[in-house]
Amino acid sequence: MDNSIFNFCAGPAMLPREVMQQAQQEFLDWQGLGCSVMEVSHRSPEYIAMAKEAEQDLRELLSISDDYAVLFMHAGGRGQFFSIPMNLMPQGGVADHVVTGSWSRGAVKECQKYGQAKVVTDITYQGNNRGIAPQSEWQLSDNAAYLHYCPNETVEGVEFDYVPQVDAPLVADMSSCILSRQINVNDFGLIYAGAQKNIGPSGLAIVIVRKDLLGKARSDTPSIFDYQQQFKLDSMLNTPPTYAWYLAGLVFKWLKAQGGVAAVEEKNIAKAKLLYDFIDECDFYENRVVKHYRSRMNVPFYLADEALNDKFLQESKQAGLLALKGHRMVGGMRASIYNAMPIEGVKALTQFMADFAKKNG
Ligand SMILES: *Cc1c(COP(=O)(O)O)cnc(C)c1O
Repeated sequence: MDNSIFNFCAGPAMLPREVMQQAQQEFLDWQGLGCSVMEVSHRSPEYIAMAKEAEQDLRELLSISDDYAVLFMHAGGRGQFFSIPMNLMPQGGVADHVVTGSWSRGAVKECQKYGQAKVVTDITYQGNNRGIAPQSEWQLSDNAAYLHYCPNETVEGVEFDYVPQVDAPLVADMSSCILSRQINVNDFGLIYAGAQKNIGPSGLAIVIVRKDLLGKARSDTPSIFDYQQQFKLDSMLNTPPTYAWYLAGLVFKWLKAQGGVAAVEEKNIAKAKLLYDFIDECDFYENRVVKHYRSRMNVPFYLADEALNDKFLQESKQAGLLALKGHRMVGGMRASIYNAMPIEGVKALTQFMADFAKKNG
């Protein structure tokens, strides 16, 4: 790995260098067992101890109380789009959905297969900029099994700067913002996240669910997606994604060594400020999100002259700044600056952007 290369991919995203180095070091011989962690039984005492410790570290990082179960599930973030209605929505029930971008819209589509997914608000523009309609305008149902929202929309770069206050249990897709800022878990009925942005390899999903919401799954819920069953069996009803779980554990330890979520949040604020301030000050670039809904994790931006997009991408790549192409649905550029991105990466990016603007402006 080269120190001067920075990967801005939205996901799977870069992981902390120290974590990757440790994984490399113990790749062939984990805990002196003479084989990789990938090659040991998930029922072995060594693996179980590691798995429990990972959960414990996550509980510490987010101050998760005993009222909540922490599950390590299969099928990534999207796997929860159907698991949530199957587990939480009674037959013929309704679930409220806040749509602020692509991911929260994706959750609606999947939920509709199991019951009524009511869209209580849809993406709103404030002028030319993307924003979020105030909660007072949401058309909430009286009897929703839960309200689903996505605190950070990875594609559009729109992030809530508050936690909605509703009567129904709050369900949050934190795939691209978990562990990036302090939260109060008690505000939520369920938090979930695909791992590949801020936690580890793809395929794994973390689910943090209030225990009183367990045991309500539809009878046709596949066992491995049944929260209650997985809770009872410590997320090992079948073989879990063992390597992803292990790597997630290393990332949790790394986060604790960084000073925990509060310390990492400070760094994330500084990184985002550096990049947005630069974009706002330079006429050559533009971000199209209302200021207080701008994401700290995913920063989409456009060149004033979009004919230069290919050139920008080519030259940024040559400069060691990888994966800046925006999502195909919104175009332009996007810099994802998750926990693992050091501020040096953002400095290198703004420096490159300034040089590029000067040469091509
Ligand atoms: C990436 C992402 C997902 C999907 O994750 P997969 O593991 O690919 O299913 C869902 N929601 C959000 C907000 C994401 O950023």
